[in-house]
Amino acid sequence: MIYQVLISSFTGRFLLPNSAVVLKNGIALTGPDLIERPFRTLVLSDDTIGEFDTGGDGREVDLDGAYLVPGLADCHVHFDLAAHPMPYLQWDRSGFVRSITCLHNGLLALRAGITSVRDLGSVDHLVLEYAAHVRAGAVTGPRVTAAGRPITITGGHCAQYGLVADGPVAVRTATRAQIAAGARVVKLMATGGISTPGNPGVPGLNLDELTAAVEEAHKLGARVAAHAHSPAGIKAALAAGVDTIEHAAFADDEALDLLKTSDTTLVPTVSALNNIAAGVGIPADTVEKSLAARETYRANTARAIGAGVRIAAGTDAGTAFNPIGGLLDELEMYRTGGMSAYEAVRSATVRTGPIMGTQTGVIAPGYRADLLVLGEDPREDLAALREPRQVINRGRVLNRAWLDETLEEYARVLASGGDVPAGR
Ligand SMILES: [Zn+2]
Repeated sequence: MIYQVLISSFTGRFLLPNSAVVLKNGIALTGPDLIERPFRTLVLSDDTIGEFDTGGDGREVDLDGAYLVPGLADCHVHFDLAAHPMPYLQWDRSGFVRSITCLHNGLLALRAGITSVRDLGSVDHLVLEYAAHVRAGAVTGPRVTAAGRPITITGGHCAQYGLVADGPVAVRTATRAQIAAGARVVKLMATGGISTPGNPGVPGLNLDELTAAVEEAHKLGARVAAHAHSPAGIKAALAAGVDTIEHAAFADDEALDLLKTSDTTLVPTVSALNNIAAGVGIPADTVEKSLAARETYRANTARAIGAGVRIAAGTDAGTAFNPIGGLLDELEMYRTGGMSAYEAVRSATVRTGPIMGTQTGVIAPGYRADLLVLGEDPREDLAALREPRQVINRGRVLNRAWLDETLEEYARVLASGGDVPAGR
């Protein structure tokens, strides 16, 4: 295989720098339905997927009969967190440590085959800056659709870190401010949370406030994600016309019905609580609320799957003991909840481009060239996604040796200054 020769002779971040790539002899899972299509050639140039079997100029990569699938997307991450038991302590660390954490998280994502993420909130604009540098090609990472600071009410979820806005006028201003700073998605807190003090079911931003944010964001070409656990918060967010509901741990039948008939996508992040336990440094209040909610959360995610709600995969990675790269654990939770492996793959691919506003998650001419090369068919068994043979990021084949070395380098920095658990 041609690329194996190149691995030993090339030390940069991409195996085939600065040229078009011709993928040869693979089986692509194409279009929104992941239809199998064996091919002789597929050209990638300028970060764009070309036509099948038309030949073309470029450096050849022989897939030797392997599967070619869309790169995965994690639709809910926090690159400015480090999975620490008290995650928000990250924001007291130095700018250097926080920047390295963000770069490290980007490579952890790519190593796991995650070529796009939606970053749903930080204490400032660090991730917006990171996203801009990735977009410019200056640093290597997944495509990032970032929110900047979340918008919340006085005393609401993440009020100590987010942008506090009370009343539709203030919320409209806050929405404009985030988009002006580079946000392509706006994060709204429609209820309380599990990882911050207070009851996760209490209402946050009200219908008038949510509506003002959605109007303003959509007018400016940005999308809207609403954090909502309780039925009242979910219903208000749906009535306001948000693009995604995050979590929905306490959704009732009516809320799930409304979700199903809306254009809104659910991003469950149900695996976020999997590793929460007492005695490992997580604040007692968070442990208590997480363990009290966990079974209900899992059951309600399964009910959403059973009801046929449109789901896009997200993990809330960055939160306590929930490192970047664990998307497969989330997909396994959907399997346990009754989703087929085929639909689980779609939840992390074709369902994700529309909510990020990117031409990603689908193999078809004109889409962005974020792709994975796999030995087995993931529609049969999700385990096929665990060790991608190759990750193609923005049309270029990542050099795994470079990736591993750079991850080690960042990990050394973080070990000396940052208490970062190893990525999974
Ligand atoms: Zn989150």
